[in-house]
Amino acid sequence: MAIILDGKEVAKNKEQQLLEEIERLKQNQINPCLGMLRVGEKQDSISYEKSMIKKCGKYGIETKIATFSENTTKQEILEQIQKWNQDSRIHGILLLRPLPFEEELCDAICFEKDVDAMGKESMANIYKGKKQGFVPCTPEACMKILEYYHIPCEGKNIVVVGRSLIVGKPMAMLLLNHNATVTICHSKTNHLAEICKKADILVVAMGKARKITKEYTNPTQVVIDVGIHRTKEGELCGDVDFQNVVDNVRAITPVPGGVGSVTTMQLLEHVVRAAKLTEGK
Ligand code: NDP
Repeated sequence: MAIILDGKEVAKNKEQQLLEEIERLKQNQINPCLGMLRVGEKQDSISYEKSMIKKCGKYGIETKIATFSENTTKQEILEQIQKWNQDSRIHGILLLRPLPFEEELCDAICFEKDVDAMGKESMANIYKGKKQGFVPCTPEACMKILEYYHIPCEGKNIVVVGRSLIVGKPMAMLLLNHNATVTICHSKTNHLAEICKKADILVVAMGKARKITKEYTNPTQVVIDVGIHRTKEGELCGDVDFQNVVDNVRAITPVPGGVGSVTTMQLLEHVVRAAKLTEGK
């Protein structure tokens, strides 16, 4: 049986420090606040928004919500982002996907408030290997899990399945910045199972429920499953078929209770870090 890389434990470990930071900021009259913007009524976005409001509330982080109908003009949405950019009471801005005019809206978030690194300036820093600004929360969560469990990346053969701008590509860059030897796979990759099987660490972000089975793994491998899906029976599962793989790998993140739990914590940390930047201003 593999070691279970418990995301909830990683998140819990960060809790105390976060609470202390928030308390300290509040004593200095700074109330960390996240602005969340949603376009349309997609059930997944609404659920995510609700869960973020709850999580922020639990730690004493304020939230401001702006919602727009799907036929709102780009200009109107841009104006809201600009308003938040200039509002010193809003420290972080998160745009909920899916978004119309995604690239332009993401690029409109000012760099200091881009807490999920959605804009081009944040993205460029990751590709340049600079430590300025914020890193996208999901790939960062994967790195934090590896770090917490003392799993080094340097010199390792790491395969990332998925090349989205949100997960796969920034993930590969972060790993590269940590001196891993990285292979990026996608839907046109030939012999995927063979490539995955050779990896020391396999990071899966392909958006295909339970696609990765034990034929893709090896007994010394560490598997990080980024995928999240709800099955017909209402259960959550990942891109990895956990039950099928768990006896054939060294360590694995579960779903739920893996990457997702840490992702949320990273976002809260970023809001607090953004709030700290305003101290003394
Ligand atoms: P996308 O759909 O944007 O990207 C999926 C990637 O996987 C694409 O690059 C695609 O290749 C590749 N892919 C699809 N099918 C295959 C295949 N059969 N073989 C190899 N590669 C394939 O998804 P995201 O990156 O946004 O998300 C990935 C997963 O992570 C989803 O399940 C999502 O729900 C989850 N997620 C989890 C988060 C968390 O906090 N835990 C946060 C964000 C996402 P191509 O480019 O060729 O199309």
